[in-house]
This record gives sequence, structure tokens and C-alpha cells, in this order.
Amino acid sequence: MNANLKKFLKRTAVKLFHLGSAVFWGFNRGNLIILTYHRVLPDNSIESRDEQPGMIVNPETFDMHLRELNKRFEIVDLEYAINNSKLLAKTGKNYCAITFDDGWKDNFDFAFPLLKKHNVPATIFLVSSFIETSNTFWPGRLIKILNNLQSASKDRSTLTSTLPDSESKAWLTSCLDSTLSDPKLFVDAAISNAKSLSDSAINQHLDKIEEQLKLTRSPSDRVILNWDEIDELTQSKLIKFGCHTKHHTRINHINNKQLLKEELVDSKHDLEKKLNTSVSLFCYPNGDQSTQAEQVISEHYSAAVTTCKGLNKLNNLAPYTLKRITMHQGGSYDAARFSAKITGRM
Ligand SMILES: [Zn+2]
Repeated sequence: MNANLKKFLKRTAVKLFHLGSAVFWGFNRGNLIILTYHRVLPDNSIESRDEQPGMIVNPETFDMHLRELNKRFEIVDLEYAINNSKLLAKTGKNYCAITFDDGWKDNFDFAFPLLKKHNVPATIFLVSSFIETSNTFWPGRLIKILNNLQSASKDRSTLTSTLPDSESKAWLTSCLDSTLSDPKLFVDAAISNAKSLSDSAINQHLDKIEEQLKLTRSPSDRVILNWDEIDELTQSKLIKFGCHTKHHTRINHINNKQLLKEELVDSKHDLEKKLNTSVSLFCYPNGDQSTQAEQVISEHYSAAVTTCKGLNKLNNLAPYTLKRITMHQGGSYDAARFSAKITGRM
């Protein structure tokens, strides 16, 4: 399909969903709508330069989302909604729960003040071994490497030529598609191609490349929440925490029982010890699932959220495969786009 026609159809669909949203929610009652956010960062912040656009909304957009949600739905704590789903189903109303994946520091800096302003609860899914460290996730590290190489050479076909180590050069070259001129598509393709390896293999390659490019991370570069911030979020009573594994390892890449236990169970116990409360919700990294993992999760958690798009029927919840709707700036920057997006049909 021609790109202009595609854009036109998308714009028309947004308008129709926006105009028909009151009718849509009139016919679709008794749902739990779970929204997924990752990062809330101001436009042009340094951190947003090294991040996938699909991971970010800016504070103004997040403020608008909360205002719009408060007008349409009762916003509830996710765990409360899951535990009381049958009761909520009887009201015939639609409920919304807000979730944040990964435990970014910007959730504290930019999202929390807005959640307080609108008095809205949210659940943050933490990666237990990353808390209070200067670690970050490999897609961001890969983007930073690409930005660094691109600042030295604009020519994508020779981007990796300055890397001294031939193994690093061969791996990074294999991830890149220099025919993609659009910067977003170029980065998205590199991340998608890198995913053919396990997370630990990707991280090993990135460790070596960062060393060659002298890209070191210091404690002042911390982008993940620390325990003081988590404590303040807890004290507010608005924020609850779930588990998002120990190292953000994609579960479908784990074949070893011990590693699976470490990622799914040890992480939960580590969080419970520090938070001094039980952690009953799990979030699949990258949305990847496996039968073996689902078995372990159902033994240790009361529910799990996925990246499958859609609404959840309160009278028939599938607690270990809860659907969500992912929010990012490009798809939700005005009220029309946002109201179309939250129907789960866009
Ligand atoms: Zn994640």
C-alpha cells in the first residue's frame, strides 16, 4: 500500500475511533484497560536521544492522558482490580490501570509528580538486580553505540569500520541494514536483528564495543530507580511494585531451570525483602512467554501482564496473560489519538 494512502487511512481511523469513542465504551462495558508506559522524558532531553521513540511519552502528553482517563474511567490499582475483578464486573463500568515497565528513574522525576497531581495509582515493574546501579538495558546501550559511531562517520555502510576488534565489527555489522535511511527504522532494525542472540551474548558484545569506544557508565549516569526513590514512591501509597525478572532476560531464551528460578523467583524474593511486602504481579520482559515459565509464574504470582494488545473482560480475567495497551508519544500525543488508542483497536 502506498505510504500516503496508509497515512490517510490511519488518520481516518483515528478520527472515527475518537468520534465514536462514547459509543464504543457504551457497547464495551466491564473491561479492565491496562496501559503500559516505559519512560516519561521531556522532549530533547539527553536521555531521549539514546532511547527508542516507542519507549517515551513526554510529561505534557502524560498529563493529558491522566486528565482524559480521569474523565472516562475509574483508574484503579492493578492488583486491587485483579483481586476484585468479579465485584468490579458487576458494576458494568470500565476500569483502567496504569503500569510502567523496567523501573526507570524518570518515572520518579516526571511521572510521579503528575500521578500525585491527578491522584492516580500505578504499578511499576522492577528489574531487581538493576535497582540502584548504573546498569541499563541493552537496546539503549546499542543506540548509544550507534549514535557514537554516527557522530564520527555519517556513512552507514562504513559505520563499524573504526572498531578495532574484528569479532565486534562482524557482529555489529550483521545487525545493521545500511539501506534504511530513516533513522528510526535503522535503529529498530538493529535492535530487532540483535535479538537473534541471547541477552547475555548481546551484553557481552556490547561490553566489548563500549570498551573499544571508551563509553563508560558512571554512577551519575544512573537511569534506574534507587531504593530511596522507591521508598518515597511506596510512602505515597499511590505506587505499587511488581517483578520484571532479575536481569530483564527474555524468558523464551532460558532453557536452564536454575536460571529460570533466578529470573522469576529469586528476583521476587529479593524485592519482597527490600520492599518489606509481598510482590504478587509479574511482567514478561519483551512480552516473551514460555510454557515452562508460565508454570513457575503461576506457582509464585497471582497474575502476569503481557505485551499482547487488547482489553480484559473483568468477569472472565485470564490472570496470567493479561493484555495491555502500550503508550508512546507518536501514537498518543493528542486527545484524539489517545482516545483511539485506548480502545485497543489501533
Ligand atoms: Zn522491560
